[in-house]
Amino acid sequence: VTDPAVRVADSQDIAEWWPRPGAASDKYTRGVVGLATGSAQYPGAALLSTSGALAGPTGMVRYAGSAQEEVVRAHPSVVAARRVADAGRVQAWVCGSGLGTGADARTELRSVLATSLPVLLDADAITLLVGGEHAEDLRRDAPLVLTPHDGEFKRLAGEAPGADRMAAAARLAAWTNAVVLLKGDRTIVATPGGEIWANPTGSPALATAGSGDVLAGLLGSLLAAGLPAVRAAVTAAYVHGLAGRHAAENGPVTAPDIAAALRPVLAGLLG
Ligand code: AMP
Ligand code: MG
Repeated sequence: VTDPAVRVADSQDIAEWWPRPGAASDKYTRGVVGLATGSAQYPGAALLSTSGALAGPTGMVRYAGSAQEEVVRAHPSVVAARRVADAGRVQAWVCGSGLGTGADARTELRSVLATSLPVLLDADAITLLVGGEHAEDLRRDAPLVLTPHDGEFKRLAGEAPGADRMAAAARLAAWTNAVVLLKGDRTIVATPGGEIWANPTGSPALATAGSGDVLAGLLGSLLAAGLPAVRAAVTAAYVHGLAGRHAAENGPVTAPDIAAALRPVLAGLLG
């Protein structure tokens, strides 16, 4: 039984919300997303979050991190720097996927949180929040989105989501004042104001390394294009879920297959 207060987006919602360029748009007015992802140890996370972001609606993707060279080699349209502080102007930041948890990662997270821009924190950035060292940084005026899987949720909340995943996501959203996208076989999006969305798409094929990095990049692009955080989260989860299904039609799925499936899925959704 689905609680009537739980909302479920459909393909028409996604098509309506998806930001489209106007006739007079330029690459900047379409939005620029910044990615502070990947590390020497996890360059793949940088590439996968970039792939996700490039499928989104923004006019430009900027990358800041130690995978700078790999990212530009694989994706020539990306404008890259080593550090967030040197990245140039963006309209939203994605931080954390494969970032590591060392001193460098901490510096980059701090730079991202110091902005007055919408920020998505994933993976290692969520881990770095643990201990409350950044607790005051979370009280920001600009939107914050957290995309934990169960392990990251447990690290941050101090307990596993448990059986009632909607209540768990709602509690974390209230506590952090963030839109929380709790990943799993039925991804939940909860807002600080008490809205709860259940994602109707998805596939167990999404349970593969790097899958969440693709999601983070796509969601960041939607934030940078100006979509409100809750719509960005609901839209990204929906499209990512369809991409998992689409990719699974061709056999075993790895994260690059999910990223590659975003375009055909979006072509079908957006017409
Ligand atoms: P991550 O663990 O960060 O790579 O993220 C995993 C992604 O796969 C998230 O988008 C999850 O919602 C999704 N996912 C993981 N397991 C399943 C599953 N059994 N069914 C559907 N989606 C899943
Ligand atoms: Mg992840």
